[in-house]
Amino acid sequence: MRVKCVICDTIEKIDDSCPLAKKLQNRLIHTYMCTSCDKRIGDNTKKRHKSGNFKLFRKYEVHDQYLD
Ligand SMILES: [Zn+2]
Repeated sequence: MRVKCVICDTIEKIDDSCPLAKKLQNRLIHTYMCTSCDKRIGDNTKKRHKSGNFKLFRKYEVHDQYLD
């Protein structure tokens, strides 16, 4: 089946029998992301988690400075 990426509108062809195609056909999922967007989102999420931890650490550092 042909699927369209919700982010970049790329049309990709996926195997009708693959689990993702089955989910789309059964309306278990309504959106499809192409492999490159999927990877990019995954990378961004990882980066956000890293920066989130960093900010948290910095916040505590600033807090300590106020205490001093
Ligand atoms: Zn895409």
